[in-house]
Amino acid sequence: MTEFELIRRYFARQPITRSDVAAGIGDDAALLRLPPGQQLAVTSDLLVSGVHFFADVDPISLGHKALAVNLSDLAAMGAEPAWFMLNLSLPEINADWLDGFCQGLFNLAREFNVQLVGGDTTRGPLVIGIEAHGFVPETSALRRSGAKVGDKIYVTGNLGDAAFALQHCLGKQQFSESDADILAKKLHRPTPRVREGMALRGLAHSAIDISDGLLADLGHILDMSHVGARIFLERMPLSTLGRKYLKEAGWETILAGGDDYELCFTVPSQNIAALEKLNLNFHCIGEIEAQPGLRIVDESGQAYHPLKMGHDHFAKLE
Ligand code: ADP
Ligand code: MG
Repeated sequence: MTEFELIRRYFARQPITRSDVAAGIGDDAALLRLPPGQQLAVTSDLLVSGVHFFADVDPISLGHKALAVNLSDLAAMGAEPAWFMLNLSLPEINADWLDGFCQGLFNLAREFNVQLVGGDTTRGPLVIGIEAHGFVPETSALRRSGAKVGDKIYVTGNLGDAAFALQHCLGKQQFSESDADILAKKLHRPTPRVREGMALRGLAHSAIDISDGLLADLGHILDMSHVGARIFLERMPLSTLGRKYLKEAGWETILAGGDDYELCFTVPSQNIAALEKLNLNFHCIGEIEAQPGLRIVDESGQAYHPLKMGHDHFAKLE
């Protein structure tokens, strides 16, 4: 199969065709129409085999996750996803692998009405780069830098399940097979919180998606907003399995494990009634304070000091 046949067979046929795509795959560049009054939010993520995923991971999950992590970044900006580009480096043309990858990729694309509009394909080590584009009305984007003293801090969904699953994959923690399957879904098939992010426009002062662990990512909001915070362990939203394995794994896995792809955001008190009316799944975990730094309060009201703050790709190089 040539490169062109591969593109035609796997990527040119797709479930979504949007009216704002004047030219998608097939020319030297895509031609796209940005609606008036909207800004374009652009983000990209690179997934490298052996670094970000296990080489033998199920290709359906990989296709899903490669797009999901990008949609999660758009969600954190309050943007509505529209288009994406796919840059692929493949060691070989494996039809089964490509069928699975496209299934995971395009199922999620259909769910969020995003169209693949181009990319590049080359032979090499397995690397997947996706760039996603979304719309956000001028001045409505959710930024990391907007948190204000007195804001309440919220997270969507549950924290820690993906980190537990990773511990299991690495052989560091044992779960029953059925528990491991449930947790693995959170690691391999995260749900980007796109609806939540868009609903937070005009309500949240700041937002970020939790990819490297709550502590690291909330830390970015604090740094960029020049504020501090206090959070409470007893308020952390954990799943039933999260509660079950908490003792064994410890709070660090939940707070610093990463791969949650939930949103962390801050809301001023005057917007909390409107926030609660949204009826979305989120929990208040603490409050923004003037004093710099992050203070963590344990279940008995004492200060909790984590050993680890979160995932940093270059941390080991220092
Ligand atoms: P060029 O050599 O001009 O960069 P290519 O031959 O690489 O063009 O690509 C031809 C068309 O196929 C372009 O529209 C490009 O965006 C698209 N394309 C290439 N690879 C991918 C891919 N992995 N996913 C989606 N579209 C792709
Ligand atoms: Mg090319």
